Amino acid sequence: MIRGLVFDFDGLILDTELPVYQAWAEIYQRHGLELSAEFWTTIIGRGSDYFDPVADLEQRLGLELDREAIQAARRTREMEMVMDLRVMPGVNEWRQQATAMGVGMGVASSSSRRWVVGHLERLALDGFSCIRCGDDVERAKPAPDLYLAVLECMGVAAHEAVAVEDSGSGVRAAKAAGLHCVAVPSSMTAGHDFAPADLILGSLAEVSFREVVARLG
Ligand SMILES: [Mg+2]
Repeated sequence: MIRGLVFDFDGLILDTELPVYQAWAEIYQRHGLELSAEFWTTIIGRGSDYFDPVADLEQRLGLELDREAIQAARRTREMEMVMDLRVMPGVNEWRQQATAMGVGMGVASSSSRRWVVGHLERLALDGFSCIRCGDDVERAKPAPDLYLAVLECMGVAAHEAVAVEDSGSGVRAAKAAGLHCVAVPSSMTAGHDFAPADLILGSLAEVSFREVVARLG
């Protein structure tokens, strides 16, 4: 019996991965360097501690940069693009179906709580009783910590919960924690390895949550 539905945030609820990459790629360009999309896909879903673009730029340029100014410019450009994004197809339908079925909902994200909760509130996406973010745990995905923290908060066993993820490291985190996992590759993660997932969908709009629960049954 499924009693919990846990969403990833970036690339799953909102396709922020492309703006985040684009904003950094533009900063690299301004310094005469390239940030390849191929490389960026390998760090997606792992949290900001895993790769520090400013440190990378400094190393490649061999000089010290104004970190604060770069981060401020990056945030402004990123937000410009993120504000234009719509909630990913099927997310609202899945939320409504889970609510109707009495299934609790949570969010497990390697990003900061400020980022995740800020966007959820801005978009009026409510109903998530347990939200665990990068700042709440020691290890980001692909470690199972975020999922284990959400399960504990929800009071749901791993085999009673379904995770929805757009990245390979997110799928690995969910499976390491013992949840069922539905992978929905996003614009930046299509090349990831989704083999550990129980189900791979092109979009959450493809199949209803009810149908997925029946299939995982
Ligand atoms: Mg993601």
